[in-house]
Amino acid sequence: MTLKDASRIYSCPHCCKKQFKKKGFYYRKISKTYIPRYFCKICKKYFSTRTLSKTYRQKRPDLNLQVFNYLTSGVSLRRTAKKLKCNYHTVYRKFLWLSARAQTLHLSQNFYINELQIDEMESIEHTKLKPLTIALAVSDEYEILGVRVGTIPAKGFLSEISRKKYGPRNDESRKIVKDLLKSIKVHPKGQSILIKSDSKPSYKNVVRQVFPHNTHEVHVASVNKEKRREMKYLNSEKKVYDPIFALNQRMAKFRDHIKRLTRRSWCTTKIKENLEKHIYLYIADNNKYHLI
Ligand SMILES: [Zn+2]
Repeated sequence: MTLKDASRIYSCPHCCKKQFKKKGFYYRKISKTYIPRYFCKICKKYFSTRTLSKTYRQKRPDLNLQVFNYLTSGVSLRRTAKKLKCNYHTVYRKFLWLSARAQTLHLSQNFYINELQIDEMESIEHTKLKPLTIALAVSDEYEILGVRVGTIPAKGFLSEISRKKYGPRNDESRKIVKDLLKSIKVHPKGQSILIKSDSKPSYKNVVRQVFPHNTHEVHVASVNKEKRREMKYLNSEKKVYDPIFALNQRMAKFRDHIKRLTRRSWCTTKIKENLEKHIYLYIADNNKYHLI
């Protein structure tokens, strides 16, 4: 890096040459200071001590941590803006910036795992007529290894209404699960891992294609829905061993800590891509990445 000290300039950040001169100032509102500008004589570009900063061009870098904390603690974007007394668009821009950083950090991580659990959960895109599926991979150490969001067609009596109003909707479930499994890099390379999932038929083939030499354990729910409901009221549900507990527990946390995934709420995802971005933000919190 060319800027060793934030207060001193050693060379041009664009071409790394040292032939530059001072050229005016600009006022930085947040720190109430004048920042000197420089002009490179070689590449004819302007720069300052802020050029290589992580928060370059941000007007409210002081809000980054607070926005991150709110958005991973079950607060909506609009509510965050209200509580921080700033504009919604400030929060939205920070949401995009933070999630991009979280995604880059996540993709650069090496995971040393012995066990991998995969499953899907459902959400909606503005209306129940446009459901989404979220494929999630979690290690037995409660680390989230990856996430993918895709569309699925509406089910039951809503399917007819959905088709009439919005046309046919693709089922991307299989594709995103395959994509997710492919994205998981196992360290050290070639190490055999145990893959656990529920009994959805498509998982079997996908796992065999992506991890051909690893063991795949399929877990079928031991009791039916009514029995489970009964057990819930008798408080004996928690005593039943859950082989994919790490994953189910992370999913329950998603529903609590990501506002747009809460049930019976008016806060819903409006843009499909932003749901994945929001989950990356939560992954950064869950896996303890140094985002800011
Ligand atoms: Zn230069």
